[in-house]
Amino acid sequence: MANDSGLIQLNEASAAAVGPAFAFDNSYARLPERFYARLDPTPVAAPRLIKINTALAEALGLDAAALASPQGVEILAGNRIAGGSQPIALAYAGHQFGNFVPQLGDGRAILLGEVVDRQGVRRDIQLKGSGPTPFSRRGDGRAAIGPVLREYIVSEAMTALGIPTTRSLAAVATGEPVYRETTLPGAVLARVASSHIRVGTFQFFAVRGDREGLRLLADHVIDRHYPNARDAAEPYRALFDRVIVRQAELVAKWMLVGFIHGVMNTDNCSIAGETIDYGPCAFMDAYKPDTVFSSIDHGGRYAYANQPRICHWNLARFGETLLPLLADDTDQAVAIANESLAAFQDHYGRALMAGMRRKLGLFDEEEGDAALAQGLLDAMAEAGADFTKTFRGLDPESDDKVEPMFADVAKYGAWAVAWRQRLARKPRDAATRRAAMQAVNPAYIPRNHKVEAALAAAIEHENLAPFEELLAVLARPYEERASLADYAEPAPPAHAVYRTFCGT
Ligand code: AMP
Ligand code: MG
Repeated sequence: MANDSGLIQLNEASAAAVGPAFAFDNSYARLPERFYARLDPTPVAAPRLIKINTALAEALGLDAAALASPQGVEILAGNRIAGGSQPIALAYAGHQFGNFVPQLGDGRAILLGEVVDRQGVRRDIQLKGSGPTPFSRRGDGRAAIGPVLREYIVSEAMTALGIPTTRSLAAVATGEPVYRETTLPGAVLARVASSHIRVGTFQFFAVRGDREGLRLLADHVIDRHYPNARDAAEPYRALFDRVIVRQAELVAKWMLVGFIHGVMNTDNCSIAGETIDYGPCAFMDAYKPDTVFSSIDHGGRYAYANQPRICHWNLARFGETLLPLLADDTDQAVAIANESLAAFQDHYGRALMAGMRRKLGLFDEEEGDAALAQGLLDAMAEAGADFTKTFRGLDPESDDKVEPMFADVAKYGAWAVAWRQRLARKPRDAATRRAAMQAVNPAYIPRNHKVEAALAAAIEHENLAPFEELLAVLARPYEERASLADYAEPAPPAHAVYRTFCGT
């Protein structure tokens, strides 16, 4: 564009006209060819932007306006390849519900490339629902709009709750139908992750006896996620130890908000320790440790209370893949791996109790704290008390908010006496304690009925207002707003039996 002085000037409008610029630097695509398949996303009929995550775009150093431009939307739909992008579908294996599948891989996702964000952290930008790949098996490579918006809502809610997670950069409607139990509108999610490397990625090389691939992958992960493991006496052992800590802390965080992932297969277990692959996940309302939402989880393998055990199981599978890197002698390698794995329970227990103490307003540690917490949980389980509302309602000076959730008020009352005795041993003024508790006990979580209502409005009436409102509520989960009381309530009884489906 010519300005008054006749010089060519690049301003924002003209930048948008040529589409967004990504400073891609694709470290995974520089790994050997057997780590992935190179292919472009399959173009879609009529891309239309549903949602762009402006704050995330900016954190990634991207121009949100350019991303939302027609050229940007074409990139987000997979119809156009951005400069510097090297699209690949990643190879991985995995245990699905305990059964090993030697080849899974990105069957409906394509990694566009990596960018280094404003904080210096390398992030994957991936399209999910971008068409078939060599890993699609019988799948169509596509995603329906419902699960795409669901992942958008829940992953952004997790971010606001301070829980490590992949994030959602954009959702684009494809203008094409996808065929599930019914015909649904298709969509593509642009997802951002620290990486998409899974326990299953290591299993892919281990099952093939590909030691060289394994070592390259482990070195890549150390460089990318755990650089100080490089300086340890035994770097691969240090890698295992660090992944154990991250996963233990992650699952403790899930437990502290009542989050149920729903499909904790080893291919959905991130080496970077982020929550990944939102499928049949949901937050529980009434506290019931055996809660399962997923329609395909018949045995309750991935029930709420099983999550730490399953995480430990997944980490054992990870440890097995590392054996050739841990020691030349297999028995010695197994001993090392088991020693590392034995620390899981401790890391998990400490992370859980640290979080529990904060939820209960405890500022120091006492022996009896775990029993105190368990006492409340037992009473909640018996009463079917709402998990989120109970913790949010706890108050050093008043039982008004919590009592109505217990049919047998005496049960809660007895616990509350013990709790206040405990509080009195580390005195703090009530306002300070209340503020500390409210900073960790969310008022708002993605309640299943609210998520469903937002999706239904978007799908059936092309009305995105409830989706936008829900995102705005969940972006500030600890900040109670009187006008939003409805969002803090559990589902009305008609919704109480809730089922989630995998078909994202
Ligand atoms: P998930 O458990 O949903 O993370 O997916 C497990 C495996 O199934 C992964 O390899 C996915 O890429 C693949 N998959 C799931 N849905 C589809 C689909 N619609 N088309 C192709 N592959 C799929
Ligand atoms: Mg998966």
